[in-house]
Amino acid sequence: MQGMPDRVTVVGGGLAGCEVAWQLAEAGIDVGLVEMKPETRTPAQTSDHLAELVCSNSLRSANPTNAVGLLKLEMTRLGSLVMAAATEARVPAGDAFAVDRDLFGRTITARIEAHPRIERRHALVTDLPSAADGITVIATGPLTADRLAQSIVRATGRERLYFYDAIAPVVMADSLDRDQIYAASRYGKGGGADYLNCPLGAEQYDAFYDLLIGALCMPLHPFETPHYFQGCLPIEVIAKSGRDTLRFGTMKPVGLRDPKTGRVPYAVLQLRQEDRHGQAYNLVGFQTKMTHPEQRRVLCTLPGLERAEFLRFGAVHRNTYIDSPALLDAQMRLKTLPHLRFAGQITGVEGYTESAAHGLATGLVLARELCGRPCPPPPPETAIGALWNHVRGALRLPGRAHEPQNVHWGLFPPPPPGTRKKDTKEVRLARAVCALERWAAEHAVPLRPPPAVDRPAVAAEE
Ligand SMILES: Cc1cc2nc3c(=O)[nH]c(=O)nc-3n(C[C@H](O)[C@H](O)[C@H](O)COP(=O)(O)OP(=O)(O)OC[C@H]3O[C@@H](n4cnc5c(N)ncnc54)[C@H](O)[C@@H]3O)c2cc1C
Repeated sequence: MQGMPDRVTVVGGGLAGCEVAWQLAEAGIDVGLVEMKPETRTPAQTSDHLAELVCSNSLRSANPTNAVGLLKLEMTRLGSLVMAAATEARVPAGDAFAVDRDLFGRTITARIEAHPRIERRHALVTDLPSAADGITVIATGPLTADRLAQSIVRATGRERLYFYDAIAPVVMADSLDRDQIYAASRYGKGGGADYLNCPLGAEQYDAFYDLLIGALCMPLHPFETPHYFQGCLPIEVIAKSGRDTLRFGTMKPVGLRDPKTGRVPYAVLQLRQEDRHGQAYNLVGFQTKMTHPEQRRVLCTLPGLERAEFLRFGAVHRNTYIDSPALLDAQMRLKTLPHLRFAGQITGVEGYTESAAHGLATGLVLARELCGRPCPPPPPETAIGALWNHVRGALRLPGRAHEPQNVHWGLFPPPPPGTRKKDTKEVRLARAVCALERWAAEHAVPLRPPPAVDRPAVAAEE
């Protein structure tokens, strides 16, 4: 240890902010945790607890052969406050890790408030703190209060802070039926075969259109109603403007002759490679507000997608996140103002568990640095490392925008060559556990024993 570590301020007492504060405090560092509740709430909040779960009470699968289950296992082993509270507040929900949200929030609030190294403060932060205020971690989440968001815009540039998500579903490459799909770029431009194309005949298009128009969508929250901006209309909203709109727009087939038939199909769904490893493809222009089961039901009728494995579902919702790969360095510091770090959903991870995990890793890396024993985050074979890599833009293809992601297997390195498909998840799990344990031993990071494993007989939703 090199003398007394500095005091750190964490802005935002959500899932990420609480994890950052906890990791620092447990390492012996004094933390000020600033939360605007109860005086001010975001439009999604209804309780005054810290780490509020604003919508569902599920942290999704606990099965570690799912990427999000693996993430939970790693968090538990690294002493996550969120996972400890979630375990105490767990309620039966099959394979899902659901919690009693009130007990969960109360437990986290009580632990934070009782920690001798954490001082909880109630304040709405309106400006990014200056270097004179010391190290600050911004963890203000998807609904960062307006004035602070404007201050972030001033520091980063308007084009680097996003206020909405409009994301298309992403599917696993090896779940596509390549017999029905052909590789081609429109008019053979730029390499000639950059996209995978799923061709539809007139009848197939009509049937798909009818399903799409009738699909169940997620309701908009009142604070989301105002506008869809240009280019980000949900696919079902575009479709409602006329039966042919899609085949003259998002699903336009011109310049995409099918080599099997020698003809241009009636309509086409284009799939674009999502990551450097080619493990994932996104459905181009298919941002949607259909519910997740409806996305599976409707989109799996498209040729070649019958057995598609969804890594990420499409979404269009209010969100605040920065262009992390451009703005942040390897420690999650703002390159231009390195006294500031960012953690949680505002960096471009998505979901309760992912935000907490990112906060945990940011807190851990910072704590180690302040204690004079710097260490990197867990390696990319782990779920935490895969998320960290996503925020760093490590897998992003050149020219692509930074988009929020849940944790999924497409963010991990591919399994070793020769791995049978049916063994892939177990191989990834074993590899992640090995990598975490090796990293922990190398950097003297204490690991808790593995928790009891959740492996229900019934396959789980990730
Ligand atoms: C409407 C909605 C529904 C969602 N549903 C789900 C779901 O069902 N499942 C799921 O996994 N994820 C869901 N999410 C995403 C989930 O909320 C986030 O992934 C997660 O809460 C992010 O954690 P965080 O700590 O980064 O931010 P948050 O949990 O939002 O925490 C940020 C905290 O910062 C505080 N804050 C904001 N601005 C300031 C300021 N200027 N000064 C002081 N404090 C400030 C806020 O009050 C808040 O407590 C939803 C998000 C929204 C908006």
